[in-house]
Amino acid sequence: MQYDVVVIGAGPNGLCNAAALAQAGLSVLVVEAKDNLGGGLRSAELLEPGFVHDVCSAVHPLGILSPFMRTLPLAEHGLTWIEPPVSAAHPLDDGRAVLLSRSVQTTAAQLGVDERAYARLMSPLLREPELLLADLLGPLGLPRRPFALARFGLRGLRSAAGLARGLFRGQEARALLAGCAAHAILPLDKLFTAAVGMLFLLTGHMADWPIARGGSAAIARALESYLRSLGVQFQVGTRVRSLSELPPARAYVFDLAPRQVIEIAAEHLPARYLRRLARYDYGPAVFKVDYVLDGPIPWRAPECLQASTVHVGGTLEEIARSERAAYTGAISEAPFVMVCQQSQFDDTRAPAGRHTGYAYCHVPFASTVDMTAAIERQIERFAPGFGSRIVARRAISPRDIEHDNPACVGGVIAGGAADITQLFTRPVARLDPYSTPNPRLFLCGASTPPGGGVHGMCGYHAARSVLRRLHGRAGLRRIAQQLEPKRES
Ligand SMILES: Cc1cc2nc3c(=O)[nH]c(=O)nc-3n(C[C@H](O)[C@H](O)[C@H](O)COP(=O)(O)OP(=O)(O)OC[C@H]3O[C@@H](n4cnc5c(N)ncnc54)[C@H](O)[C@@H]3O)c2cc1C
Repeated sequence: MQYDVVVIGAGPNGLCNAAALAQAGLSVLVVEAKDNLGGGLRSAELLEPGFVHDVCSAVHPLGILSPFMRTLPLAEHGLTWIEPPVSAAHPLDDGRAVLLSRSVQTTAAQLGVDERAYARLMSPLLREPELLLADLLGPLGLPRRPFALARFGLRGLRSAAGLARGLFRGQEARALLAGCAAHAILPLDKLFTAAVGMLFLLTGHMADWPIARGGSAAIARALESYLRSLGVQFQVGTRVRSLSELPPARAYVFDLAPRQVIEIAAEHLPARYLRRLARYDYGPAVFKVDYVLDGPIPWRAPECLQASTVHVGGTLEEIARSERAAYTGAISEAPFVMVCQQSQFDDTRAPAGRHTGYAYCHVPFASTVDMTAAIERQIERFAPGFGSRIVARRAISPRDIEHDNPACVGGVIAGGAADITQLFTRPVARLDPYSTPNPRLFLCGASTPPGGGVHGMCGYHAARSVLRRLHGRAGLRRIAQQLEPKRES
């Protein structure tokens, strides 16, 4: 059987790539190594029956707001987003917590001396924020909101630490920005980390960072059901090692890491391009612990229970130290910890009165150091008694993460370092980063713009690249009309 396109890897980007191509009338086969689809979108009873854990991705601000995913009828295919009362909580040592709420005013009101500075930073970004987000979640190109993008870019170009110190005087606002900027998985004194902080703050003012009812796998199931309705075919349980194993197609799209593209397609790509792929910088990795808990996390600031995500790490300075350590190959004794509380808002995740726990910290690439104790010390610092709530735990190191999904090279969860040299041009600087020198081979994984996270935008933009190649510019114009993310009315 000949297909128009074979997609290798069924993560959110591979699935969104297949969706965009199938919408445009192409025949698509998705080939996946595991027996189930989803990549980063998986859930399982990892520890005890009745406790459903998110294996990878947990909280989805970029999923619910994704310019492409929000055009898909995922609710009709079974997906229910659950939005918590607030997006994120950031506990402080004095027993208080700063909450990232939907309202800029409510959020700013907690920030004391920085109330007005925070509102001045965020309010202008919230005029037609969907269009700004579409610009931010794409490759370099003609922006839809050039002035808003320029305003965002002027601030975002800076380091998160520089912006926080320059704009804010109090520890609350600085910590709030630092916790959001730490999603960059880079030292906070690196250029453009302010953009990541502002992006996550912006999403928190557009939607309350949601989880998927039933587990993140529900997103994959909805995508699969929609794709089947479009006629997309699947071949699971097939770990591709060479292009020669695949059926004939006009184009092949890799939802994989650059290292895997080298392994699978070296003989089809020129040596210079392969050398550039090999130089790709993956950045720090992740160490994760899943828990069965016999009650909610006993935060000293109980309002933390209103948030799907809790940024555990204290002050800007502490978070900056922890992120720098992970980047420079050192182990932080006081790591910044991302805690997610899915079972607070979704009663399908755990038996009544009991809870799942989800926590990870950033560690050096491929690190083998066990961070369980350091993670629990940090949570205990802001939630005394946490340790006594633990019924069972399961820790996974970067090596385990890569073993589980080879696209997470070295335990890296966001497709590679999103620093200034790799933010818009990943994995290799090309006018069209989704194309390769081989006109039949394309990339759509998180190592292409806009990078990590469940948003499917790498897949969507790669689909445009494939369509441009297969249909020419006139064909793309017809198809692009159909694919263009909807403008909010
Ligand atoms: C622990 C963890 C926590 C995270 N938390 C969040 C979060 O809360 N929110 C968020 O938005 N993002 C989160 N992420 C990041 C997010 O999951 C990824 O950025 C996203 O899944 C990337 O999607 P992708 O389609 O590019 O690749 P992936 O999701 O990695 O999918 C790649 C697919 O390719 C398959 N594959 C690999 N090798 C082969 C092969 N040789 N042949 C065939 N198939 C192959 C894999 O099995 C996988 O299904 C997290 C990731 C991890 C690991």
